[in-house]
Amino acid sequence: MIAVLGSANLDLVVTVERAPGRGETVTGRTFATLPGGKGANQALAAARAGGDVAFLGAVGDDDFGRRIRELLADAGVDVSGLAVSDQPTGTAHITVDGTGDNSIVVVPGANGTVTALTDAHRATIDRAELLLLQLELPLDLVVEAARYAHAREIPVVLTPAPAVPLPEELLEAVDILVPNEHEAALLAGIDDPIAAAEQLTRLCDDVVVTLGARGAAWLSGGETIPVPAFPVQAVDTTAAGDTFVGVMAAGLAGGLQLGGALHRASAAAALSVQRPGASSSMPDRAEIDAFLAEA
Ligand code: ATP
Repeated sequence: MIAVLGSANLDLVVTVERAPGRGETVTGRTFATLPGGKGANQALAAARAGGDVAFLGAVGDDDFGRRIRELLADAGVDVSGLAVSDQPTGTAHITVDGTGDNSIVVVPGANGTVTALTDAHRATIDRAELLLLQLELPLDLVVEAARYAHAREIPVVLTPAPAVPLPEELLEAVDILVPNEHEAALLAGIDDPIAAAEQLTRLCDDVVVTLGARGAAWLSGGETIPVPAFPVQAVDTTAAGDTFVGVMAAGLAGGLQLGGALHRASAAAALSVQRPGASSSMPDRAEIDAFLAEA
């Protein structure tokens, strides 16, 4: 089983010709509500790819929270560890203007109330083959969870997003670190993403730096192994990284070695970027198999 401890949000997306200035009101074009949050995205991607997944986190006692719980449960995710908080479900308020630029306000809400491991969290992690973490829950909790799993020899996968400087005690408890190029550069303080990832292998055994349409690079034991992207026409890369990590985890839990799991992850991410949205773009196991057979 894959345990995912992370955020669940509802993205509230407005498109507008021109974003309002201070004190100004403008008329928007469209509005959509889309389930998101890196934790929920990774849980969903792993479950769609055939993984047995338990999600740990919190939502509010509101319609947004019930919608996220239902989406995860429908995909087969165990949501018994998804607590109901007295704070509202986390939201990301996204305004996309006519040039495609966006501005985002994130309100952590219920996500911010997950501040320490509970006995129920520990019981789920104890049964897990893999723990997936990101940085959208309070950092102290992420450190506590990583150290708890690491002490029990349960492999820890960390997506260091949103990027912030991290304590060494966290990185030392991580087995597979999966930054994108910007996150790798920030964490290592080196602009070149491969050199940055190499630097990070001093603390984590395996570092997989994702490079968008250029694929990814897996650094381990002094070696750099390319993970090629599949050439496709991308329409929306939202959650490509989360799809990549979730499907990698499903592959590992299904018995693949990391190289094989990364190949599947790359295929799944290539499928997801050809469709709009986050959760709505994630492929299932059969689609990944068919895509790989054709490629
Ligand atoms: P996001 O924040 O949008 O979720 P990210 O920055 O975390 O993405 P990326 O490095 O952009 O992650 O992408 C993750 C993986 O998705 C890449 O390593 C690659 O395998 C795949 N991918 C991304 N963009 C493309 C593309 N245009 N074509 C094919 N594969 C892609």
